[in-house]
Amino acid sequence: MTSDIGSSLPRTEDLRRRAQERLSACGVRPGAWDGARDGGLTARTPLTGGTLCGLPAASPQEVEAAVGEAAEAFAVWRMRPAPARGALVKRLGELLGEHREDLAELVTIEAGKIRSEALGEVQEMIDICDFAVGLSRQLYGRTMASERPGHRLSESWHPLGVVGVISAFNFPVAVWSWNTAIALACGDTVVWKPSEQTPLTSLACAALLTRAAADTDAPAGVHRLVLGGRETGERLVDDARVALVSATGSVRMGREVGPRVAARFGRLLLELGGNNAAVVTSSADLDLAVRAIVFSAAGTAGQRCTTLRRLIVHEDVAGALLEKVVHAYGQLRVGDPLAEGTLVGPLISCAAREAMDEALAAAQADGGKVLTGGEPVLQTEAPQAAYVRPAVVRMPAQTAVVRRETFAPILYVLTYRTLDEALALHNGVPQGLSSSIFTRDQREAERFLAADGSDCGIANVNIGTSGAEIGGAFGGEKETGGGRESGSDAWRAYMRRATNTVNYSDSLPLAQGVSFL
Ligand code: NAD
Repeated sequence: MTSDIGSSLPRTEDLRRRAQERLSACGVRPGAWDGARDGGLTARTPLTGGTLCGLPAASPQEVEAAVGEAAEAFAVWRMRPAPARGALVKRLGELLGEHREDLAELVTIEAGKIRSEALGEVQEMIDICDFAVGLSRQLYGRTMASERPGHRLSESWHPLGVVGVISAFNFPVAVWSWNTAIALACGDTVVWKPSEQTPLTSLACAALLTRAAADTDAPAGVHRLVLGGRETGERLVDDARVALVSATGSVRMGREVGPRVAARFGRLLLELGGNNAAVVTSSADLDLAVRAIVFSAAGTAGQRCTTLRRLIVHEDVAGALLEKVVHAYGQLRVGDPLAEGTLVGPLISCAAREAMDEALAAAQADGGKVLTGGEPVLQTEAPQAAYVRPAVVRMPAQTAVVRRETFAPILYVLTYRTLDEALALHNGVPQGLSSSIFTRDQREAERFLAADGSDCGIANVNIGTSGAEIGGAFGGEKETGGGRESGSDAWRAYMRRATNTVNYSDSLPLAQGVSFL
């Protein structure tokens, strides 16, 4: 079954004009977005699949120079008192707030997010700036009790160096801001390699940060943007001057980046794929659970790292829950993400839709039954765009296709009898990002959060798997990569720790009572 929404889609030329207006408003010079050259990038919009413009990719020499400038700026920036560094981040937050609408529209045009989610992504940038400004006065070290008389033992935290940020298409700006706001407050400088699928949003953010740096008298090299694909990312990965590589993307990318950074003893922060599940117990408030499930599974067209991909339901409530979920899926409006009332925008590319089709075929071959969705929504005016109805598939078992991340809106449903069985299913995948339990039984909730409960970096009770706040540390375990970004004490990854022992006595006692000389 297909349905047609073609007549309601915007035209590529209108989107191009709107994107250019938004870029200009953010201070991006016109020349910056129409300079395609051999090996350059093509900015596309998933709304129509059409081309917005060509862009020059950074040459190897330009990447080299960008890292050099960031390294030079680091020598100055690290000596600026942290609260003064916070002034730059504060100004960035102000500018992001002033250009909220511009940035959100660019996110929609380039990544396909519906307006409300695009605005939410920009808000996340503003929030992390607020957080980092506060942090700039709270980069605390500990004082420990020395075992030796007349000695003081403490630790200090120092800026680390150049941070190389490699980001994914699905959060084209928020992930950059998590890294950049914290790194700048910590005294680091940043070189950003955004996704080749979302270069325009990065131009806009970089222009605003350049302005914030000028307004606060920060060295221009505190940040650099290098556009390009995998090869450009690899140059950052291999550059020994990049002290920390913070890379967000697929597990495949992490497998390539991890060993290369480790080989040069660089620091690494990996934020990779998820395969997030929700357990719905027999005591759950099903109406509340349904709302959370539908937002987490179908929101952002299933293209969040925290998207709900597996629903593990107690067999006593499976029938009632699925009836409600299927009904709610029937209400989802798929289409132009700029239009009022749309809840599900396009997939990023036709390749993403092909991956979804392949996963659905594999699930059906494994005995899965599609309860709703999965069909393309045909666009007569935009055959290169990929709109799909989010799918719910009941599975007889957690087969290979369920255990891998397909970056599309497919929700696999499994049933269980005991909580042990549910937890075994829950943890029985290679990824470990986000998780939820829906229950009104405190014992079940606590068990889910206990050491033998969810094995994920994020474990929630009675809310969905997606939509984290910036105040907590964000990241996951196992193949998700183990990195933590954003709030809590994630800042420590962006600094180096020095342990300091000061002897203010007249004698020289050795630790552990060792005597020598
Ligand atoms: P991707 O892995 O294709 O690309 C991500 C980035 O890595 C891009 O900038 C790309 O150019 C770069 N890259 C790819 N190979 C590289 C290499 N060998 N060396 C250096 N750079 C390289 O991912 P995507 O399709 O843009 O994003 C979707 C994926 O990202 C999903 O798996 C999703 O779960 C994951 N993701 C994870 C998080 C998280 O916080 N855990 C957040 C967002 C997205």
